[in-house]
Amino acid sequence: MEQRNSITSKLKISKRRETYRLIFQLIGLSIFVYFGRESTIYVILLTLPLAVLIGPAYCGWMCPRGMFQNIAGIVGRKFLGKRYNRLVSRKVHDKLRFFRYVLLLFVLATVILYEFEVLGVSVEAAIADGLVAIMVLSILLSFFVDRAACRYFCKDGAFASLVNLVKIRKIRRDKSLCNSCGICDKVCPMWIEVSTKGAVEDHSCISCFKCICACPQDALSIEE
Ligand code: SF4
Ligand code: SF4
Repeated sequence: MEQRNSITSKLKISKRRETYRLIFQLIGLSIFVYFGRESTIYVILLTLPLAVLIGPAYCGWMCPRGMFQNIAGIVGRKFLGKRYNRLVSRKVHDKLRFFRYVLLLFVLATVILYEFEVLGVSVEAAIADGLVAIMVLSILLSFFVDRAACRYFCKDGAFASLVNLVKIRKIRRDKSLCNSCGICDKVCPMWIEVSTKGAVEDHSCISCFKCICACPQDALSIEE
């Protein structure tokens, strides 16, 4: 219990946490620029033990694409105000959020077909270019929708988020403290309805911990 409280309270009281997030994202960007886009999957694999413990924190804290989406989101909110995050309805979101897993399966199939020489180099390269175009467009979409690429189009995030199915320490909501203000729902970049859950078990959580930091009642914490 003590350790749980210690992690949670450190997160909550740290005024510099967004600075730390930015530093980690800049490290992620440096790795991405230096080693190329395939490095993402290796960094995800390297951070897997941490991910099994607390979820895919790479997505929430280190991914450079997350950084660009955060910046786009700040600009989008400034210009759109309350109209930000209104482009996609809940109904569409609930379906579209599975699209990134379709992309992941498509990429795995492409790799296998390429290895067995069913696909030629040019087709494989065209598919890779298409995936880059989807990623760039979805990051631009983040001017209108929070973390649009993470929510709907990132195959790497889809892969990383599979650990949510087995992660050891979930985010728990203490119902006796919660006053159902809904702030946690509003700040969640993945549009998860935290305020209705006993524990966040959603497959799309990116372990950004913004919900914990925003809760005015201290009702959310990382479980022991
Ligand atoms: S922000 Fe905290 S108090 Fe408000 S609904 Fe979420 S868990 Fe409950
Ligand atoms: S549930 Fe909390 S930790 Fe997970 S993505 Fe939403 S805000 Fe981040």
